[in-house]
Amino acid sequence: MVTMSFHLMNTSIDWALLQQQARAASEQAYAPYSHFPVGVAIQAGSGKIYTGCNVENASYGGTICAERNAIAAAIVAGEREFQALVVFTPQERLTPPCGMCRQVIAEFFTPESPIASCNHLAQIQQWSVGELLPSAFTPLYLAQSAKVETRKLFDATSATEATEATGPTESSN
Ligand SMILES: [Zn+2]
Repeated sequence: MVTMSFHLMNTSIDWALLQQQARAASEQAYAPYSHFPVGVAIQAGSGKIYTGCNVENASYGGTICAERNAIAAAIVAGEREFQALVVFTPQERLTPPCGMCRQVIAEFFTPESPIASCNHLAQIQQWSVGELLPSAFTPLYLAQSAKVETRKLFDATSATEATEATGPTESSN
C-alpha cells in the first residue's frame, strides 16, 4: 500500500533522506513499556533535518513522543519554522502523530505543511497539518486575549502594590 497526496509533494523536501533519518531515530527509541519504537525526522525552514525518538518513563505520564522531541531539538537549535515531518514506525499500520503532537505541530507548521508516516516496508502515507488537525488552536487565537490578560495582570499588579503600600500602616495599628 502506498498512499501519497502528490499535490502536497514539495520538490525542495528530501523525502528519502527524511525517511532514512526517521528510521535511524527510531532505533534510538527508549520504549521499554510499549515496545513501540518511533522515530521522527523534520526538515526545518533552514533546510536542516532534526530527529527525535519516543522517550518513555516509568511514570508513563512522563513519556514524550518522537514528534515533540524532534521539534524541541530544532527549537533549541534556533529553528522556528518547519517544512515537513516524517514519522517512522516498524509496523504495517502507518502511524500518524497523536493528538498532543498534532497540537504542537500546529504551533510551528503551516496548515499546508506535509506530514508523512512510513514504515520498514517502504510504505508511506501523507497528510497536511490541516487534515490532521482541522480548526487548530494556534498562537493567532491567543494574540488578542494575551493583550487582555496582560492588561489584567498589570491591573492586578497595581492593586497588589496599592495593598502593599497600605499594608504596613494597617499592621502597625
Ligand atoms: Zn505524540
